[in-house]
Amino acid sequence: MKSLFCLICICSFFTLPLLDIYGADSSITCIKFETLGRLEPRPDLENYIETNNFKVHWESPTTQTYAQNAANYAEYARDQECNQLHWRVPPADGGRGGNDKYDIYILNDLNGNRGQTFPDAEQNWQYEWTHSFIEIINTLIDDDEKMTIAHEINHACQFAYSYKDLEDGTWFYENTATWVAEEVYNLCLSVL
Ligand SMILES: [Zn+2]
Repeated sequence: MKSLFCLICICSFFTLPLLDIYGADSSITCIKFETLGRLEPRPDLENYIETNNFKVHWESPTTQTYAQNAANYAEYARDQECNQLHWRVPPADGGRGGNDKYDIYILNDLNGNRGQTFPDAEQNWQYEWTHSFIEIINTLIDDDEKMTIAHEINHACQFAYSYKDLEDGTWFYENTATWVAEEVYNLCLSVL
């Protein structure tokens, strides 16, 4: 009987958080991620904000508050993904964007996407890994901005291992980034 009780306790331990995430939330937001691109030129924006690990580039009509939030969310996602989940950190980019910090560009138009992460290897790059940069749209609200940035940061971490499987493995990059973002924020957002 004692062992049965323990089994029920263990099952409850694992089940209740899942119900909390997937069952009890009737306000699930849907996000569409079409985020993996490659070899795009970087935007040239007027302003920037720097934190320990990020340089967030922005210009009007994006607000400084929006950019600061993006920087804060990026630091939080990086800490959770690299220090708690032990992903490799996004590789330094050799001074592109003005220094070695990871560059995030906030744009008015992203072709219908919320965020995009671009592998940034130059031609004849010999390594499996690459540095990268992120673009996000400037109209995200609260959890959508957090989740989009956590998702894109994971792509940047993925590229610390390999970017060379994009042709056939996009589904795997996307599924993993979506799952990791949910781990970071304990939110469930559906992928359309
Ligand atoms: Zn993605």
